[in-house]
Amino acid sequence: MPGIQSYDTIIVGAGFSGLYMLHRLRGLGMSARVYERGSGVGGTWYWNRYPGARCDVESVQYSYSFSDELQREWQWTERYAGQAEILRYANHVADRFDLRRDIELNTNVVSAEFDEAENRWAVTLGDGRQVSAQHLVMAVGCLSNARVPDFPGLGSFRGRVYHTGEWPHEGVDFSGLRVGVVGTGSSAIQSIPVIAAEAKHVTVFQRTPNYSIPARNYPLSDDEKRLWAENFPEFRRRAREEMRNGIVSEIPQNGALDVSDAEREAAYEFRWKRGGIPFMSTYNNLALDKAANDTAAEFVRRKIGEVVRNPAVAKLLQPTSYPIGTKRICLDSDYFETFNRDNVTLVDVRHAPIEKITPKGLVTGGKEYDFDAIVFATGFDAMTGSFAKIDIHGRSGLMLKKKWEEGPKTYLGLMVADFPNMFLITGPGSPSVLSNMIVSIEQHVDWVADCLAYLRRRDIACVEATRGAEDEWVAHVNEVAHTTLYPQANSWYMGANIPGKPRVFLPYIGGIPAYRAICNDVAANGYRGFALTRQQSIAAAE
Ligand SMILES: Cc1cc2nc3c(=O)[nH]c(=O)nc-3n(C[C@H](O)[C@H](O)[C@H](O)COP(=O)(O)OP(=O)(O)OC[C@H]3O[C@@H](n4cnc5c(N)ncnc54)[C@H](O)[C@@H]3O)c2cc1C
Repeated sequence: MPGIQSYDTIIVGAGFSGLYMLHRLRGLGMSARVYERGSGVGGTWYWNRYPGARCDVESVQYSYSFSDELQREWQWTERYAGQAEILRYANHVADRFDLRRDIELNTNVVSAEFDEAENRWAVTLGDGRQVSAQHLVMAVGCLSNARVPDFPGLGSFRGRVYHTGEWPHEGVDFSGLRVGVVGTGSSAIQSIPVIAAEAKHVTVFQRTPNYSIPARNYPLSDDEKRLWAENFPEFRRRAREEMRNGIVSEIPQNGALDVSDAEREAAYEFRWKRGGIPFMSTYNNLALDKAANDTAAEFVRRKIGEVVRNPAVAKLLQPTSYPIGTKRICLDSDYFETFNRDNVTLVDVRHAPIEKITPKGLVTGGKEYDFDAIVFATGFDAMTGSFAKIDIHGRSGLMLKKKWEEGPKTYLGLMVADFPNMFLITGPGSPSVLSNMIVSIEQHVDWVADCLAYLRRRDIACVEATRGAEDEWVAHVNEVAHTTLYPQANSWYMGANIPGKPRVFLPYIGGIPAYRAICNDVAANGYRGFALTRQQSIAAAE
């Protein structure tokens, strides 16, 4: 196309997915361009600068494994690094692998259209420019589309308004302010203790209480760093091949009801004291058996009751309406303790929903609360939200939004039938948000890079998931989800936080090792379930 910049591959997004994808494609000698709407790299860690933001997978594990030099030279300072440190890491990676020269920041991708005659994607950027590529990699992120509920009067508030997922870069000083925080998910749980330590008063509006485990963050000792440095290959292998969620920890051998009450209590207590997501791996049936799950849920509720002094507040904070772990488990530093402070109030909006935002604050239960600032910690339109914002047209002009109207359909979470040459990184139908995401990102990027190399070697111009393979995969994803307790929660895994979004379990819950084996097997069998077409055969058919 004359006058239009062309590449082998266009990558949308410069988070951990987009950065590594670019690196792999460079290694294959392919031309690639990354477009990123933010003014810096790092994705999640560029946008989520709210106070207290940090990872909930231990940093030594929540980091790339593709370069041994990188993993040895980068020293994490804490068990769970804060946002600023993770963002520094992303920038370090961009510099170390000289990625910036192929990344265009402040550039929104607004539409992408598949040209069936050319087997290429025509992409339109926010400034009106057109670019083109044979392949399109959507590295747009699962949690990158911040969502503010559509409260009446939203724009009328005269104070300051923030969303945790789009936090101002210059930071916010809450000293002396009356702050309303809407939401009690992971971002709220991380930020409320920090905001409360600074603000005059914090009022937390809670619809659904969350289970949260203490993070027990601490500075990493030299011994711990050495343990990892000496065992990186083995730990990384275990994360990829043995751990369902890609996080190295002990693999539970027993079910929760196979042991005595005393033994179970001791096991939960041990994991609670140690802190972290592995609390959910105390027993092997917590995600499967409601009675087993109840024992862990009850333990956490009891802990909340012990920490929170006001029994009525404790009761409100104790989740009862869904099994523990069926919403992403949160990690906290003094979240429940924060409700013992004189300057923190909890308001239940389950029974009296927020009616409206007013110039002075917000109204719920017929009462107006006045604020200087409102923080929306209301999460994301997860997994599909960033796709929905782009007009993506596949074969015969079919819109992805239309195709996904009743829930996203993919083959392996990697490709979509009728959308040839378009790859998704950690797309719906893959383990993604149920896992240590860097493990999942690396697996997807490697799979896509290997696939592109395979196509090039065979002069294949077009790769596309077949509808049959896609239907089978969607059915499988659904079937596996329903063998677990997960669908019992109204979670963002189910799309339940977005009014009108179809209730479909979005990620694949079969576990990383099983999923990885399936992807490898598909590739080893000539990309089973994908239609591969050579340029000549397309030309011959015309
Ligand atoms: C607060 C928070 C904490 C988290 N903690 C953990 C954790 O501890 N462990 C874990 O495994 N996961 C965690 N996650 C999940 C996290 O999103 C992933 O781990 C990972 O960072 C995702 O990387 P990504 O590159 O796939 O997506 P992102 O980091 O979301 O990057 C996608 C990028 O695409 C850009 N983009 C989207 N649409 C467009 C467009 N149309 N045009 C141009 N650019 C576009 C976005 O601006 C964004 O920068 C967390 C998420 C959040 C929100």
